[in-house]
Amino acid sequence: MGFSAIIVAAGSGQRAGPGAAKQWRTLAGKPVARWSLEALLAAGAQEVVVVIPPGHESTAAEAFAGLNNWITAPGGDQRHDSVLAGISALTCGARDAVLIHDAARPFLKPALARELAEAALEHDGALPALPMADTLKRQTPGGSPLSTASREGLWRAQTPQAFRREVLEAAYAAWPNGEIPTDDASVVERAGGRIHLEAGDPRLMKLTYPEDFEMAEALAGAARVTRVGMGFDAHRFGPGDGVWLCGVKIPHGQTLIGHSDADAGLHALTDAILGAIGEGDIGDHFPPTDLQWRGAASSVFLKHAAALVAAKGGRVVNLDVTLICERPKIKPHREAMRESLAGLLGLPLSAVSVKATTTEAMGFTGREEGLAAQAIATVELPG
Ligand code: MG
Repeated sequence: MGFSAIIVAAGSGQRAGPGAAKQWRTLAGKPVARWSLEALLAAGAQEVVVVIPPGHESTAAEAFAGLNNWITAPGGDQRHDSVLAGISALTCGARDAVLIHDAARPFLKPALARELAEAALEHDGALPALPMADTLKRQTPGGSPLSTASREGLWRAQTPQAFRREVLEAAYAAWPNGEIPTDDASVVERAGGRIHLEAGDPRLMKLTYPEDFEMAEALAGAARVTRVGMGFDAHRFGPGDGVWLCGVKIPHGQTLIGHSDADAGLHALTDAILGAIGEGDIGDHFPPTDLQWRGAASSVFLKHAAALVAAKGGRVVNLDVTLICERPKIKPHREAMRESLAGLLGLPLSAVSVKATTTEAMGFTGREEGLAAQAIATVELPG
């Protein structure tokens, strides 16, 4: 089932210590807010509004490069102002489920997000909650003797919290001016709504203090696996005025013959990424017998492979392409190719390598009958 989501990433996070605001800090090489966005998209979110501090639009664009179905909305002074800004940016219907998630909880499992979205349609709202494990002690600042509080019936509320859009809007409209809610469920509770509790996840911890980041970094590393895939492709030269390689058109006395634009670099790379996630090869996804791919830009194939990685909650870490030909000379176009690949996959330039070699006039590339490409891609997936 489809649902919409709001990621609240508008805080300044001063308790988390100096440096970049905590939603933009990296965990295992990935911005904190991106972890949540990827998880929500992998869970099937149809739109995600990320509420950010005003002026942080370009930071967000960089942090979320390569992902689809998200927009940003500028946040307000308090958390609930930001939530309201997020709700007004939604395009979903009144009866659709909306998940509201704190960006500071990066380790959301897509399955939990889906469960909450379903529960929101059966109840007035749903949230993940954990029982209290520690004994609760009370000591007031005045120095009263230490006492023990009962933990019976107490739960630690996490996010995402899920509601039908109309329930949430009505509850916020009824919320008394001047009071500050600490979460969205409390707003719906005050309006008389009944909130369903789902089993929470200890890994859905909230990053608040500097030491939380150390723990999260260990979790992030432990929770990821690295996969490698390789690809190879070759195309024959034919009459023409240029070749497409790695998404760049290079003037040449011939062209490459193929069903699509015959970009052997992009084809090898697409196969490398598909190989890393065990998803077959380019021909399985884009059969050459299918007329709609005739003359297609091969960037479509590469983006499809990258979207499959993102749908698994993974990311492409780095890639390396080797083009094998006598001519055209690749070196003058190498940087343009790197930039093209980095742009297509939303990767930093340092993670993208394009190399070229000849075969010393031997074999089919040596005789200039055709051109070949090899590629390798590293992908990181949830463990
Ligand atoms: Mg090919």
